[in-house]
Amino acid sequence: MKNNLDNLRHTTSHLLAAAVLELYPYARITLGPPIENGFYYDIDFGNDKISEEDLPKIEKKMRQLVKNWTSVEGKEISIDEAKKLFKNNQYKLELIEEITKKGEKITIYKSGNFIDLCRGGHIKNPSQEIKHFKLLSIAGAYWRGNEKNKMLTRIYGTVFPTKEELDKYLWQLEEAKKRDHKKIGKELKLFILPQDVGSGLLIWSPYGAIIRRKIEELIINEQTKRGYLHVYTPHIGKKTLWQTSGHWDLYRDKMYAPMKIDEDEYLVKPMNCPFHMMVYKSELRSYKDLPLRIAEIATVYRYEKAGELSGMLRVRHITQDDSHIFCREDQVVDEFLGVFDYMIYLLNIFGLKDYYFRLGLRSPKEKYLGNDEIWIKAEKEIVKAIEKKGLNYIKSEGDAAFYGPKLDVIIKDAIGRQWQCGTIQVDFMLPERFGLEYIDENGKIQRPALIHRAPLGSLERFVAILIEHYAGAFPLWLSPVQIAILPVSEKFVDHANKLAEIFQKNNLRIENNFENETLSKKIRSATLKKIPYLVIIGEKEVNGLSLEEYEKNGLVAIRTREGKDLGQININQFILNLNRQIETFS
Ligand SMILES: [Zn+2]
Ligand SMILES: [Zn+2]
Repeated sequence: MKNNLDNLRHTTSHLLAAAVLELYPYARITLGPPIENGFYYDIDFGNDKISEEDLPKIEKKMRQLVKNWTSVEGKEISIDEAKKLFKNNQYKLELIEEITKKGEKITIYKSGNFIDLCRGGHIKNPSQEIKHFKLLSIAGAYWRGNEKNKMLTRIYGTVFPTKEELDKYLWQLEEAKKRDHKKIGKELKLFILPQDVGSGLLIWSPYGAIIRRKIEELIINEQTKRGYLHVYTPHIGKKTLWQTSGHWDLYRDKMYAPMKIDEDEYLVKPMNCPFHMMVYKSELRSYKDLPLRIAEIATVYRYEKAGELSGMLRVRHITQDDSHIFCREDQVVDEFLGVFDYMIYLLNIFGLKDYYFRLGLRSPKEKYLGNDEIWIKAEKEIVKAIEKKGLNYIKSEGDAAFYGPKLDVIIKDAIGRQWQCGTIQVDFMLPERFGLEYIDENGKIQRPALIHRAPLGSLERFVAILIEHYAGAFPLWLSPVQIAILPVSEKFVDHANKLAEIFQKNNLRIENNFENETLSKKIRSATLKKIPYLVIIGEKEVNGLSLEEYEKNGLVAIRTREGKDLGQININQFILNLNRQIETFS
C-alpha cells in the first residue's frame, strides 16, 4: 500500500518535471523523489526566475499533459545512448557517471513525450491515476544536498489517490499554519529566542514557564508515586565521563567543544547518563536495592545545525524528563512495562490518545557498541514486553541507539500530524563500561541492566507540539491565566478586587482587566488570550452586597473562551468546580 502511494507520488514528480520543461525549455531537471506527504523535484531554472505565483500555471500544464500519459514505459539503455540523450543536462550526466561506476544498469522511463533517467517505481496509467494533486511551495536546495554545489529550485507538491485524502491533507496544512507554535508562542507570550543570547537558545517567558512548571510538577508527583527517586546534577562534567560512556567517540558531532578548568578538560553535558551512574556507584548495591529508578528533569546541550533550528521545536538545549532504571536482568520486562504504563498515562492526560511505537533496531551500515549476543537479547526483551501489552508497533532498522535497541512513541496530534516524542532504551553496555555491580542472593557480584527513558522526550519540543495540538487553548490546569475578571464598569472595581483576592487565595491564576473599555472589548481581548473562563461582575452579581457579604455568598457570571454563556453561579461553587477540573487534568 505504502509503495503504491510512493509510486503515485514519484510518477507525479515526473509529470511536474515534464510540465516545467514545456514551460521553461532551458530548465535542467535533476531528481524527483517521493517524500512523506508528497513529492518534490529539484530543478535548475538557469536564468529564469520562478516564484510560487508560477505554480498554478505549472499545475495547469500538468493537467493538460497527463491526459496523454496512458503508460510509463521503461527500458534499459547503454551508457553512450544515455549520455547522448541527456547531453544538455550536466546533472543527469553526473548521475549517469555514478550509476556506471557502481556497475548498475541505466534505465529510462517514458510517458507522453517526456523521458527521465530513473531507477523505477511508477504507477501504470498516470492519465487514470494522477487526478488529485497540488503544487504547494518552492524552496532552495543544493544539488546533492551539498552547500558547495549550485542552489537549485525545489518544487514541492502532493498527490493522493482520492479527493477526500487530498482535501484532508490541504486542510491539515492550513490548520498547521494557524497553529504554528512560533506564531502562537509570540501572541500568548510563551517564549522568546533572542538573537542576543544566541541561535537556538530559548527563554521561557513567565507564561510559558507556568506551563513548564505545571508539567514538571505532574512528572515529579507521578514519578514519585511510581517509585522514582529524583536527583539534581551539574551541567558540566569531566570529559572522561563521556569517554567512558562512549558518547565522545560516537556522538561528538552533537557535543560542544571541551573547556579547560584547572588541569582537566570538561564538557557541557549532552546526556545525563554518566551522572546517574555515579549515583548508582556511590553506594554498595544489593539485589534488594533493585530496581533503582534515578530520575531528573534536566537540561542537556546538543549542537544542532543552524539550518535545522526551528522555533521551540528544535533548539540547542533540551530539557528531558530523564530517568535511568537500574535493575536485575529478570526485572527488565516488568520495568519496561512500567515505563509503558506511565508513558500512556501521560499521553492520555494531554489528550494524545492516538499513538504507536517504533522499535529501533541496528542497521548493518552503522557503528555500535557491544556484541551481537547482547543486542539480540535486548531486542528480544523489548519485543516480549510490547507483545505482552498488545501494543501497535513497527520495526525500524537504523533507529537504534549506539548502545542498545530503543523504542520510540509516535503520537498523532489534534489535526492528525505525527510527532516522535518519548523514548525507552534498554542498555547492557553502560553498566559494563562504568563497572556497575550488585551483590546477588548468593553473595556473588553481578552486573545490573539499565533502562534509559524520557517519556516526553524534551520539554521544549513537547510544549511546542502541545501549543500546536491545543492551538494555544491549553486546558485549565495548564493555562497560564485561568480566569479573566471583567467588571462591567468602574462601579464594580472594589468587588472585582475582592474577587481577585478570593481566586488567588485558592491558587487560581487570574488576570484583572480594569481597563476603561467596553465589556465586549474586554471579552474579546480575554478570548484572544485563550483564557478558559471569563468572570463577569456587574449590578446583578453584586446585588447590593457589601464586600464581606459578597465574599461569603456572592455570584459571578461565567463565559468560556469558546463563547458559551454558563450563567450565574455562586463564587465558592465555581471555585470548587474549577479545582475538580484541575485535579482531573480536564
Ligand atoms: Zn521515475
Ligand atoms: Zn541515558
